[in-house]
Amino acid sequence: MSQTHTPSQTYLSTRGGDYSLSFETVVLKGLAADGGLFLPEEIPEVKDWRSWKDLSYSDLAFRILSLYISPHEIPRDDLKAIIDRSYSTFRADEIAPLRHLHDNLFLLELFHGPSYSFKDCALQFLGNLFEYFLVRKNKSKEGKDRHHLTVVGATSGDTGSAAIYGLRGKKDVSVFILHPKGRISPIQEAQMTTVMDQNVHNMAVEGTFDDCQDIVKALFGDPDTNDTLKLGAVNSINWSRILAQIVYYFYSYFSLARTSSSFKVGDSVRFVTPTGNFGNILAGYLATKMGLPVDKLLVATNENDILYRFWQSGRYEKHPTHGEEAQGGLKSDGAQAHRDGCKETLSPAMDILVSSNFERLMWFLAKDFASTTGLNDQFNKKQAGQEVLAWFKSLKSTGGFGPVHQDILEAGRLSFESERVSDPETLEAIKSCYERTEYVLDPHSAIGVAAAERSISRTNPGVPHISLSTAHPAKFSGAVKLALKDSSSFNFEEQVLPAEFVALAQGERRVTSVENSWEKVREIVKKQVDEDLKVEETG
Ligand SMILES: *Cc1c(COP(=O)(O)O)cnc(C)c1O
Repeated sequence: MSQTHTPSQTYLSTRGGDYSLSFETVVLKGLAADGGLFLPEEIPEVKDWRSWKDLSYSDLAFRILSLYISPHEIPRDDLKAIIDRSYSTFRADEIAPLRHLHDNLFLLELFHGPSYSFKDCALQFLGNLFEYFLVRKNKSKEGKDRHHLTVVGATSGDTGSAAIYGLRGKKDVSVFILHPKGRISPIQEAQMTTVMDQNVHNMAVEGTFDDCQDIVKALFGDPDTNDTLKLGAVNSINWSRILAQIVYYFYSYFSLARTSSSFKVGDSVRFVTPTGNFGNILAGYLATKMGLPVDKLLVATNENDILYRFWQSGRYEKHPTHGEEAQGGLKSDGAQAHRDGCKETLSPAMDILVSSNFERLMWFLAKDFASTTGLNDQFNKKQAGQEVLAWFKSLKSTGGFGPVHQDILEAGRLSFESERVSDPETLEAIKSCYERTEYVLDPHSAIGVAAAERSISRTNPGVPHISLSTAHPAKFSGAVKLALKDSSSFNFEEQVLPAEFVALAQGERRVTSVENSWEKVREIVKKQVDEDLKVEETG
């Protein structure tokens, strides 16, 4: 099919190796051939965003997504149907309800999808998108001619369950989800391994989440794997996930305007986002680029604080360096420290050493910087690609890069602030929120609330804060019970635990244990895909 695109609906790689890609290519490939991440060549600036105020979640999603996807690629009726189907699985009519916690603090509940984390907001959509593209590719094709997608993803818990619920039972897709063995919560483990659909395969890797991510990266970088399997990514690097997440930044802003008498459309808010791979908050950044009035985006981290340190120092490093050594940009500890630098915290979905999507922000900052002296847009994009390539080469070889140019850091600080919240502070936030409002936060959302409260105490008290709640508290019962163990009125089973989870815990499991070796994983994946193909042919 020949396709024409308007300029705003094609895509490039952050490392400069690819331009003019279609949305479909970007979604199905996940990662660019040069190792970069995909971004739209243009972020649409929306003049009439105010007119979206009273739209339903699905209608708003349709408006926003239409700006990034050419109608030649997905006709509008089809896009609407994909979106409607994606949000029909949510338990809350509003999809993402906004709750008033206290004073100027609001909580955006993003956990009403099938796996009870915010990741469903994007992965339900991605699953339907994959299916749509594959059905179209495979029209009137049979057997070996059919395009079969092999999705491989790493998870520290929530991505995996959300991906599995997004892709279970989808034709022409095999799903492999790698999780660090014994390092995810029991309910996350149950959510993933009790799914019995033939196309879903769980692998428990002897290692950390970063090891799982490295294995996935190695598979994507391996020509042999790419020749035999068509790999698809569902990790937060997939552009369609970022795209779908833009919606709730707008939606919650409008919810606030509808419910709060002192807040009008046009006023500024602060968003506070519990951050790991930087996918969620990057969507907020894109919303601001589209025109949403955001005072600041607050990056809330746990003790795995690479992002917090970046906003302090302008250096992006797996491990902090100090003084002279850091000034010179020469580091000796990169390679071997990489393996075990990640701390295990009470908020495991944020336990990362490096944040994949941060590369996307750096591309925007580098491009804006280039444009202060640059010749034209094309030149600025080239410059940005080269800068990003150099930074991320350095990250790979030395464990870090920076300090970045002061102007780049300053430009970034116009949009972002950061707070780091420790485990004891997380527990304290769950406790004090419960005592004050009887609302039970999960540990990730508690990090957001703790960060928001710090921000509220030092900023103009008039600025409302929308703190994103990224998971249902029942997914992280250990931390929640620990935080509320002295609250006599609290009863986890009665106040928090959904009936659905009780049933899951007793369900049958299917999972394969595997060594921390990407070759071993490749062997298993290849064999299993062969079997899945046979089943599809006969079944
Ligand atoms: C994935 C996840 C995060 C981190 O989101 P990023 O997009 O990776 O920054 C935070 N909280 C929960 C509960 C998550 O599942």
